Amino acid sequence: MKLAMIGFGQAGGKIVDKFLEYDARTGSGIVQSAVAVNTAEADLMGLENIPKSNRVLIGRARVKGHGVGADNELGAEIAEEDIGEIQGAIDSIPVHEIDAFLVVAGLGGGTGSGGSPVLAKHLKRIYTEPVYGLGILPGGDEGGIYTLNAARSFQTFVREVDNLLVFDNDAWRKTGESVEGGYEEINDEIVRRFGVLFGAGEISADDDVAESVVDSSEIINTLEGGGVSTVGYDAEAVEEYDSGGLLSRFKGGNKDDMETTNTTNRINSIVRKAALGRLTLPCEIEGTERALLVVSGPPEHLNRKGIEKGRGWLEDETGSMEVRGGDYPLDEPSVAAAVLLSGVHDVPRIKELQQVAIEAQENIDEIQQESEENLEALVEDDEDELDPLF
Ligand code: GDP
Repeated sequence: MKLAMIGFGQAGGKIVDKFLEYDARTGSGIVQSAVAVNTAEADLMGLENIPKSNRVLIGRARVKGHGVGADNELGAEIAEEDIGEIQGAIDSIPVHEIDAFLVVAGLGGGTGSGGSPVLAKHLKRIYTEPVYGLGILPGGDEGGIYTLNAARSFQTFVREVDNLLVFDNDAWRKTGESVEGGYEEINDEIVRRFGVLFGAGEISADDDVAESVVDSSEIINTLEGGGVSTVGYDAEAVEEYDSGGLLSRFKGGNKDDMETTNTTNRINSIVRKAALGRLTLPCEIEGTERALLVVSGPPEHLNRKGIEKGRGWLEDETGSMEVRGGDYPLDEPSVAAAVLLSGVHDVPRIKELQQVAIEAQENIDEIQQESEENLEALVEDDEDELDPLF
């Protein structure tokens, strides 16, 4: 499916930048347009693939290009004030050619956290195309203010988009890694998962004809109805070495029954590992409202039976009657399954995030009150004998 991607804040911009790189590498054609919005000029300058004309610096008058720190209320205010400037960049998007908008942001910071729900609300008011969010939750070690920002932004963002796809940095962080190096890998994971998913609806006429192609309307229907979504993914290499070098096992050969059974079983097991392995937002999959299964790989390694079995298994596991599925032929040496679980409810991580956020909020209020009292005790003389100048 074709998306207009808008990266809000540093994380949002970097991830959209990476989507463009993915698009160029794989030819998936999912990014119809890419825009980056930020209050920090340096972050915009650090982008590599988003055209300079599509980089929008907002809040110039208020923060002079230096960002909003982690103040997401200020981020939201600036986005409202400068929505015209953002719209200016969106005006260059051929909206009739896109299937949806995707607003991407890290929810723990200031600019993206505050600005992305404001932008989503604005887009929904103006356009009829669906507006999806891709929200990144902070790592648990980032501290109270980031958690509080994320919890508040999450509540607001879910309400303003047609569906909020969530990626939890906390579930994916590795200990002992530099933050930057860690994000590189995490961003690759984000782009791979959502890339396979959104790429599924983009099969051109000269591609290998899929047995049961996933259409962009199926992605849209799965996301319709709103709520929160998570994505599972798993892949398995399907080439093996022999004396002649790297060869695709089935290329050129006839598929016999044995091979068909292998193909079916492989797909089935990859689907299970995708749904039961680490999700972008870890949660209980039982009770999921709608799901979409996309199986990608070389056409010789895909079959309808495997996908049907995987789909049936997903129906049983989720208890949903709305599980769609299809294939996505790709010239890659692996078979992969991406599972979109839309409308998930049983998410312990969100409850934990909210609890930590509430504690952080109380702590901040307490410190603020104490600080006022302490300052007064310091500045005022004990007997109140002195008068200020004015
Ligand atoms: P903003 O520029 O004020 O919107 O804030 P940032 O985007 O810099 O940071 C917001 C949050 O996003 C941080 O608290 C991190 O959790 C997360 N974050 C920052 N950079 C990256 C990145 O490159 N990848 C990922 N996955 N998360 C990031």
